[in-house]
Amino acid sequence: MPEPRILIDQQLSAGAALALDEAQARHVGTALRLSAGDHVRVFNARDGEWRARIADASKRGMKVQIEDFICAARATPDLDLLFAPVKRHATDLIVEKATELGVRRIRPVITQRTIAETVRVDRLRSIAREAAEQTERFDVPEIAERLALAKALDAWDASRPLIYADEASDERDKPWGGESGRGVSIAEAMSALRTEQLAVLIGPEGGFTREERALLRSLPFVNAVSLGPRILRAETAVIAALSVVQSLWGDWAKA
Ligand code: SAM
Repeated sequence: MPEPRILIDQQLSAGAALALDEAQARHVGTALRLSAGDHVRVFNARDGEWRARIADASKRGMKVQIEDFICAARATPDLDLLFAPVKRHATDLIVEKATELGVRRIRPVITQRTIAETVRVDRLRSIAREAAEQTERFDVPEIAERLALAKALDAWDASRPLIYADEASDERDKPWGGESGRGVSIAEAMSALRTEQLAVLIGPEGGFTREERALLRSLPFVNAVSLGPRILRAETAVIAALSVVQSLWGDWAKA
């Protein structure tokens, strides 16, 4: 089994002796049952990944001594996820999976039908951190404070196209509703985009309102897309959309 990875926000270099914080020491000592002499990998987005030996493990804390350089850090694609917070478990899952799938920023947005108005950003940050450690990435996605969707769109940098997943099923009488109003397939939208920076937007359980849909579809940087003929749960839609984006545009395409 590969040695566990620990993110350390301090300078990493050969020979350095670094103290783990309390939560990390507890995780390594109690959950992973490692002790002095065992090895771990330590990493961060600046200094890459290093092999380190647990030099000291006691009630006072845990120290690791860095031994060998393993590899340089790799950047994640410049990809943002905007999502309307859902129930707690599903929101946690979205943050964990978006981290695994290589999103650089996670931005909770409040839409008109968002039910879960409270977002525990500190909790989401620790979920993202843990997922980053497990998933062999080097950076932890930035988790923004929640923001109203309209405000986020207002302040949008138009050089970042927004892939907007529009289920468009409940307004059959409108040009954007029903089967005829579905966005193009996400794969088709991706093939037309030439950009180094991108964002994906997924709505809440109740979908977007007519007003939000009209606003989104009127904006030049927005690309309305379909994720197929079935209506997916928000968390499934996040995973599906990010997988397509990573495979057609992001670092799966470049791997
Ligand atoms: N209540 C909505 C309805 O019945 O039409 C469904 C909302 S869905 C659970 C949550 C979000 O996932 C949507 O707002 C959309 O962003 C995305 N989504 C789910 N299925 C989709 C699809 N087939 N095409 C595009 N987006 C989809």
